Amino acid sequence: MSLLDWFANREKSEPIIQKRQEREIADGLWTKCVACDVLTYTKDLRANQLVCTECGHHMRVDSDERIAQLIDDGTWKSLNEHLKPTDPLKFFDRKAYSDRLKDTQEKTGLIDAVQTGTGLVDGLPLALGVMDFRFMGGSMGSVVGEKLCRLVEYATQERLPVVIVCASGGARMQEGMLSLMQMAKIAGALALYRDKQLLYIPVLTHPTTGGVTASFAMLGDIILAEPKATIGFAGRRVIEQTLREKLPEGFQTSEYLLKHGFVDAIVSRTQLKKILAQLISLHQPFFPVIPLLKGEASHPESELSLKVDR
Ligand SMILES: [Zn+2]
Repeated sequence: MSLLDWFANREKSEPIIQKRQEREIADGLWTKCVACDVLTYTKDLRANQLVCTECGHHMRVDSDERIAQLIDDGTWKSLNEHLKPTDPLKFFDRKAYSDRLKDTQEKTGLIDAVQTGTGLVDGLPLALGVMDFRFMGGSMGSVVGEKLCRLVEYATQERLPVVIVCASGGARMQEGMLSLMQMAKIAGALALYRDKQLLYIPVLTHPTTGGVTASFAMLGDIILAEPKATIGFAGRRVIEQTLREKLPEGFQTSEYLLKHGFVDAIVSRTQLKKILAQLISLHQPFFPVIPLLKGEASHPESELSLKVDR
C-alpha cells in the first residue's frame, strides 16, 4: 500500500466525531488547557473568565477581556488613548522597531501595551490600568510609562483608588534608556499618590517580570497575585548562571512570593472583582466621594479579610 493510500484509508476510517472536534478546535470552539490537556467548550471557558474548569489553570487574558471582567458594564471610560509610541532611537534588531510597532498595532488593535481608564467595580469608582501581553510581551515603553503615570496623577487629583493589572516581560529594549526611565517616573507619581493616603493595588498576573516588578508592581499598599503566576526580576537561568547556585523549586511563583512576604494574597481570577470591591469599600473613609449604594452591605460573603495599617 502506498503512503497516499494509507492516508486515504486512515481518513475514511476516522470517526466523524473526531474530525468534527478537530475542526471545532481549529475554529476556536474548543480550547485545550496547556496544564491538564482537557478540552473545554470555549464559551464555557470564557464564562469562567478563562480559568480551566478542570484544573484551575489561569489562561492568559487580553486587556479588553480583563476590563470586561472587572468593570461594571457600560461604565468604562478610557484615558489618554491618543498617546502613540515613536521610535526615537531608530532602533533596529531583526526588524525596524517602527515596523514592529505597526505590525503589532494591526495584529492586536491596540496602540501600545497598556489600557488605562476609569470605571465602576460593583458600583465603586476606580482608576484601572491593564497591561496587555500580546503587545510586544507587555513591555514597558515610554507610552506605557506615560499612560500609567497620567492614570496615577488623575487618581491623585480625583482621590480614586488605583488598580494596575500587570503582565509584562519588563522594559522595552527597543526604547533603551527611555524605557528604563519609566520605572522612576511611575514610582515618583505613586509616591505623590501615597502622600495623599490613597489605595494602590497591583495585581500580578503571569508573567510579571523585569522593570515592571522592579517598580510599580511591587509598590502597592496591598499586592495581589493570580495563582501560579511567574513573578520575578531576572530570569531563573540568568540568576543561576550569575550566582552559580541552584535555585529552589517553585522560585519566582506567586505561591513562593506569598510565603516569603512579597505578595499579600493570591486571588483566583473568578474572585478578583469581588475582592477588589471589598478592599476598596474597606478603605472607603479614604475615598470620601465614593457613592456607596444606599443600604447595601458590600460583599459580606467574601472570604478575604485583610487589615491594613494606615
Ligand atoms: Zn486545565
